[in-house]
Amino acid sequence: MNTALVVGLGISGMATAIALQDAGWDPVIIERSPERRVGGYFIGLFPEGRQAAQDLGVLEHMQLRTPVASRAWELQKHGDRIRSTGFLDQPGKPDAVLRGDIESALWARVEGNIPVRFSTTPDSLSHGFDCVRVVLRNTTANLTTSEEFDLVIGADGVRSTVREMAFGAHSRYMRSMDAIICAFQLQEQLPHFAAEDAIVLAEPRRSMWIFPFDDRPPTALLTYRTTDVDAQFSAPPKEILRERYAGMSGDGAVELVLRQLDDAPDFLFDSVHQVRMPQWRNRRTMVIGDAAWCLSLYSGMGASSALVAAAALRKPLTDALAARRPNAFEDALDGWEQQLRPSVKKWRKAAHIKAEVFVPSNAALSHVRRRILRSAGRKVADSRAA
Ligand SMILES: Cc1cc2nc3c(=O)[nH]c(=O)nc-3n(C[C@H](O)[C@H](O)[C@H](O)COP(=O)(O)OP(=O)(O)OC[C@H]3O[C@@H](n4cnc5c(N)ncnc54)[C@H](O)[C@@H]3O)c2cc1C
Repeated sequence: MNTALVVGLGISGMATAIALQDAGWDPVIIERSPERRVGGYFIGLFPEGRQAAQDLGVLEHMQLRTPVASRAWELQKHGDRIRSTGFLDQPGKPDAVLRGDIESALWARVEGNIPVRFSTTPDSLSHGFDCVRVVLRNTTANLTTSEEFDLVIGADGVRSTVREMAFGAHSRYMRSMDAIICAFQLQEQLPHFAAEDAIVLAEPRRSMWIFPFDDRPPTALLTYRTTDVDAQFSAPPKEILRERYAGMSGDGAVELVLRQLDDAPDFLFDSVHQVRMPQWRNRRTMVIGDAAWCLSLYSGMGASSALVAAAALRKPLTDALAARRPNAFEDALDGWEQQLRPSVKKWRKAAHIKAEVFVPSNAALSHVRRRILRSAGRKVADSRAA
């Protein structure tokens, strides 16, 4: 049986390992963390992602938390609110989930079926004639082992170690979007809003989003643009955020969210990048998901695209195994990549437009954005009232 090493136990890694197993392969997953992460931030799961989750046999295990009759509000500087269009109102009507909901659904198929080694990372990899030799390090015991695989798949995120080892430096592939995000779970909804309300406060170059769920408090996203990304990591994130959001109030809403950040058990604070690679496979090593084509959170398609890509691997890899001819699976992977690239290109381009909705880059675009979203918000409200 063909063996595959999948690096990363995120959405891409688990979905890919499931697809490989379905295609008759023998995958093993390694994850650098000592245990599986849970929770995470709001994710909009689009119909393509839902269909792929169904194809991978995990949709039935996924908790969808889309609030019924959610209303989106644009909060003004001084606290007035105006009906607007929210993330969940966009075409395709994404479902609201936490990243952990998708990962738990995938885990339901991985646990007990696919070997997972925690606290393990690749130290080096080299291509042999018909295999990849990988030195794996267990970081708890600080032990290394050398193993051979027919295929190595880097599903290890935007700063992928596998990509760096097999394709070259991050700087060749990572494109900064000159922006920062901070995402975390709120303990409670903002006062005077219904639990299922979506709330946005957007000014030129900085914004705050509250994403609601049907059965739990919302998650918050603070995102701002910057011309000096490195400087945003020169002090503790909470300090930087207080500085960047100074004077943006929404009648106390921003201060309240920043106070909830102080009490949050964990949060994500990171710079925003896209990844662009001319090819996703180098001999018997390939990358997938954020490691290969990170679209950025603004696209709203990172998780969906990871599921779509993994589900699309199953047929070509099954056919390649049956073909039993040299290079069959390399050809299958190239075919898969060609099939996927047009969609990835489309989602990547759209991310730049959607970024203006998330956080307008200047005052003129902020004005246009507000007018468009308000007009769309009125239409959503009218259609619900009709
Ligand atoms: C705030 C935010 C909001 C988002 N919203 C949306 C949305 O609305 N819709 C959507 O579709 N997508 C969204 N995304 C994107 C989405 O979360 C990702 O695209 C998706 O999770 C796919 O991630 P991945 O599995 O490729 O990588 P990751 O989630 O980064 O997983 C990589 C895994 O590899 C592990 N790893 C890393 N390095 C190593 C190593 N050297 N050895 C072993 N393991 C390693 C990591 O610990 C991790 O478990 C959002 C992202 C953010 C940050």
